[in-house]
Amino acid sequence: ERERLARLRHTPAVTLDGERVELLANIELPQDAPGAFAAGAAGVGLFRSEFLFMNRNGSLPGEDEQFEAYRAAVEAMQGLPVTIRTVDIGADKSLERMSINELRHEHTLNPALGLRAIRWSLSEPSMFRMQLRAILRASAYGPVKLLIPMLAHRGEIRQTLEQVARAKQQLRDAGLPFAEVEVGAMIEVPAAALLMPLFLRHFDFVSIGTNDLIQYTLAIDRADENVSYLYDPWHPAILKLVSDTIAQARLAGKGVSVCGEMAGDSAFTPLLLAMGLRSFSMHPSQIASIKQRILRSDTQKLRLHVHDILSSEDPHARYRELVDGEPSRT
Ligand code: PEP
Ligand code: MG
Repeated sequence: ERERLARLRHTPAVTLDGERVELLANIELPQDAPGAFAAGAAGVGLFRSEFLFMNRNGSLPGEDEQFEAYRAAVEAMQGLPVTIRTVDIGADKSLERMSINELRHEHTLNPALGLRAIRWSLSEPSMFRMQLRAILRASAYGPVKLLIPMLAHRGEIRQTLEQVARAKQQLRDAGLPFAEVEVGAMIEVPAAALLMPLFLRHFDFVSIGTNDLIQYTLAIDRADENVSYLYDPWHPAILKLVSDTIAQARLAGKGVSVCGEMAGDSAFTPLLLAMGLRSFSMHPSQIASIKQRILRSDTQKLRLHVHDILSSEDPHARYRELVDGEPSRT
């Protein structure tokens, strides 16, 4: 069994009909990168940088400390691309006892709808540029992509890209090296999924965050157990947003991946492949089972049924009818 798994690590993820699929890893700290590499990941699809900022008793990592952390992840991936997401704090990922945050969060009633992720970064522009400089500097040590969480409004896109340009200029002025870095947007707010042409005009790639997309589309707090029975990734509204996002990105010739839990759930693998997805990012421990599912999948076979499944009242039931013997979740 161990030998079989070791062999699987080096087997490319290719479907029965010859479609190559990219399996990437989600990591939280640079220490996770060697494990992602060992698991056979083709790169890091999501480095949740907020974990560098959490549980620090009020202090924040400075530019050099961040740079060293990003560089460590880049070097551990040995030339494979590392997608670093700028901080996504707020909501379920709060900065404990951080003075700035306390001030701003004192009267927050709905943290998931409040000053979170890019909203927080744009409200602290010098801190945001510090993180951008640290990420850009790491690109001198291997391929880096920059990913922005929770964007929803054209003004946020404009301000974000302005800050990226300013951070680059600051590095040039300081004589610090950095390479070309693709900039991508998380699609995790329904407004973003509904405005793909705007995002595709301004970004090099998109990454679908299904965890938040489900939360915000269905109005279900992803951390509230009282309503967890309604947190349904099979809801036809979710499948439609995911499918449309993939289709539009592909049509525009831009990269698209899924980095939410859906990407690491093998029950969804054939459906996501049939929707046209060729890049999945997940916890390193899920890569082997998703790869096995891909090796047994035929993207052509389900492709013609995607519309049928999406327009069904109960997509999960319809999907199981079409994909015989599917491991199902209830
Ligand atoms: C998501 O929302 O799906 C996602 C990948 O981001 P996070 O889980 O860190 O919010
Ligand atoms: Mg998210």
